[in-house]
Amino acid sequence: MLKTLIILVIPVLIIIGILVYPRLVQRRRNHFKNLPFSPQKQAIVENNLPIYSCLSPDERRRLKGHIQVFLAEKQFIGCGGLQITEEMKLTIAGVSCLLLLNSSGSYFSKLRSILLYPSTYRVQTTTALDNYVVVESIEARLGESWIRDQVVLSWEQIKQDTNHWNDGHNVILHEFTHQLDSEDGKTNGVPILPKNSDYSVWAKVMSKEYEKLCRETEQRVKTVIDAYGTTNPAEFFAVATETFFEKPQQLLDKHPELYRLLQGYYQLNPVQWI
Ligand SMILES: [Zn+2]
Repeated sequence: MLKTLIILVIPVLIIIGILVYPRLVQRRRNHFKNLPFSPQKQAIVENNLPIYSCLSPDERRRLKGHIQVFLAEKQFIGCGGLQITEEMKLTIAGVSCLLLLNSSGSYFSKLRSILLYPSTYRVQTTTALDNYVVVESIEARLGESWIRDQVVLSWEQIKQDTNHWNDGHNVILHEFTHQLDSEDGKTNGVPILPKNSDYSVWAKVMSKEYEKLCRETEQRVKTVIDAYGTTNPAEFFAVATETFFEKPQQLLDKHPELYRLLQGYYQLNPVQWI
């Protein structure tokens, strides 16, 4: 009798959980979105997010809401002796949430923690050359995104990016684009798209633009998109996103199809912010 009861009750509880949990998450997020944004926080965001003053009042309100949710849900860990400050958290939250500005927002669903180093950090890597030879080396890195649950960043690089917003390089935008890319379990340059029919359009435009960048880089032609995008389609998506936010007019002029694709994906039109 008890066994039958358990067999009947457990699936019902699971179904209730599936239906109720997203509503609880949404309620919790709405609570954080509506918390007051102190003048101190406001000053840090204005100072460290150069594009903030160009946003419309409605975009600023939404960005501040996203920042509060991000800060409530993600853990910050100082590495290499770094003490995490409010400025560091707000800067990382502010820039990364630009990517979510107009979306309903999964808030980088796989991401749990942000590891922050004072400057460039070193990582020991091993590369298998064949079945018998493995080469060990030390690599200096500015940032990386792990498919499971972490982003690693360098504070020195973030400050440099803050001071040079229009140069097309931004480690936060880059690594958090990789997070969006990996939400379906694969980091391959194709994020989750709203409709099935969107995937063929994405593949057509992205592969054409990726091949163009590879060709122009090989011919040593000066390009708007950084040549690092030729590494693979995932890096191309991340680098194209950096260009979309930091050099929107140049991207629109030289790569209108790519600009329109990213405009549709992010539901944003950064040329209006110039
Ligand atoms: Zn990358």
